[in-house]
Amino acid sequence: MSGIVVVGNGMAGSRFVTEMRDRDRKMPLTVFGAEAQQPYNRVLLSNVLAGASRPDQIGLVDPSWYERHGVDARLGVEIVRIDRERRLVHASDGGVTPYRTLVIATGSTAIVPPLPGTGDGLPAGAVAFRTLDDCVRILEAAEGAKHAVVVGGGLLGIEAARGLAGRGLDVTVVHLAGHLMERQLDPGAGRVLARTLGRLGIRARLEISVSALRTEEAASGTRVSGVELANGEFLSADVVVLACGVRPDVALAREAGLEIDRGIVVDEMLRSVSDPSVRAIGECSQYGGTVYGLVAPAWEQAAILADLLAETDVDARFTGAREITRLKAASVELATMGETHHGDEDPDVEVVRFADPARGTYKKVVIKDDRLIGAILLGETGTAGTLTQLYDRAAPLPSDRLSLLFPGINGAPVSDSPVRMPDAATVCQCNNVSKGQIRACWEHGARTVEEVAARTRASTGCGGCRDAVEGIVCWLDEQEAAPTG
Ligand SMILES: Cc1cc2nc3c(=O)[nH]c(=O)nc-3n(C[C@H](O)[C@H](O)[C@H](O)COP(=O)(O)OP(=O)(O)OC[C@H]3O[C@@H](n4cnc5c(N)ncnc54)[C@H](O)[C@@H]3O)c2cc1C
Repeated sequence: MSGIVVVGNGMAGSRFVTEMRDRDRKMPLTVFGAEAQQPYNRVLLSNVLAGASRPDQIGLVDPSWYERHGVDARLGVEIVRIDRERRLVHASDGGVTPYRTLVIATGSTAIVPPLPGTGDGLPAGAVAFRTLDDCVRILEAAEGAKHAVVVGGGLLGIEAARGLAGRGLDVTVVHLAGHLMERQLDPGAGRVLARTLGRLGIRARLEISVSALRTEEAASGTRVSGVELANGEFLSADVVVLACGVRPDVALAREAGLEIDRGIVVDEMLRSVSDPSVRAIGECSQYGGTVYGLVAPAWEQAAILADLLAETDVDARFTGAREITRLKAASVELATMGETHHGDEDPDVEVVRFADPARGTYKKVVIKDDRLIGAILLGETGTAGTLTQLYDRAAPLPSDRLSLLFPGINGAPVSDSPVRMPDAATVCQCNNVSKGQIRACWEHGARTVEEVAARTRASTGCGGCRDAVEGIVCWLDEQEAAPTG
């Protein structure tokens, strides 16, 4: 009997499979994953690069889980063609599998710019950063290396740069735009970030592109020796990490005749607009003109699709997601959300800003109609949780705007206090877990972050909310221990 076939076993595909099995124990379920290993938390690759986690600590679904749950998992097998007419998928091992519903979760691939020196693939020592294999290759290249160049100063490039600098390498980030992380930061914040990174041994070369990779012959074969910049300058490097952005992996879907814009165009039930028996989730899908590049929307889509296909909530709909980003880089606190680029000249918005570049601090909130529409917290993120909640719920703001930036000022809480947090507040953005759910979990006996994580999944995405979850658990413990009456 044909059932659901999932193409792609990354963060969206693997989450969909587990969500589906939670709701329906019998539905025939097959998942194909081009990567041979068990699915892993891609978000935490930056921690692996930095040495804060080991590869074996970031697995998502244990291989034995599939057998125990009657899921046919084909790891290391790629789907090479979709035959929509006959509802079949053709795999790289020659197998042909029928489907009733096809879920495409092929994610994105790293963009490798067409540079001289990359003609026959990347030379040893030059790696595009997307997969666990890439991460292992970067770590191998970094062993005993002195100089690294990271091409691309977005979130991923900076996390890679920080990881390599933490391993003692001298790191230069080469970035085409005028300031770092230009998608999330305004120029002022970008400057402060560059200064902070400078103190950590990371140089930023801005408004310049890499024009070629240079190679040399070593005993082990051809390997990278550095990069040439557009102005003719040469930067010597033993390791070159390419973090030049990603492109939704839609080749299969395009060949199958599905409508593609940047991603596979889907409706709010995550159905391809060309074929309702095909669904698309995660970074390969595009809803409402947006391709989301974060894990929270991918996991939300996975849960919604499981609700729809298992018919546990036939009214479930994906209506878009808010984008909240936290940098995972030691000694660089950074959280951003929403629209951050507004300046003082925009009459419709109110911008409150504080900058102390010497100490690496830059804070900004953007307010419209008394609601928070964007924020940057760099260097000190004590109000990140509060701002996230205000942004998430589009709640009215306190008239004292400074309290949004400075914990403890004018009677504002010293930090994001669990006491003041409403039960509806989202604590774990990646998994959409509220304070109320954590409280309920605690009331049912979970007394540690690990127990809460096992039951709710809170803190198992980027890990940025771990302190907040711990704070809530400790606060509930204290409440219980406090004498009553
Ligand atoms: C280093 C790094 C750090 C990140 N940090 C953050 C962060 O802090 N916060 C955040 O929200 N997001 C972060 N992201 C982004 C996040 O990882 C992605 O949004 C998320 O992985 C998207 O999930 P996905 O399943 O759509 O794609 P992926 O996780 O890429 O999974 C797609 C899978 O499909 C497989 N596949 C592709 N084609 C086929 C085929 N034809 N047949 C079979 N399998 C196929 C691929 O091999 C891959 O395993 C980070 C990403 C990286 C690389």
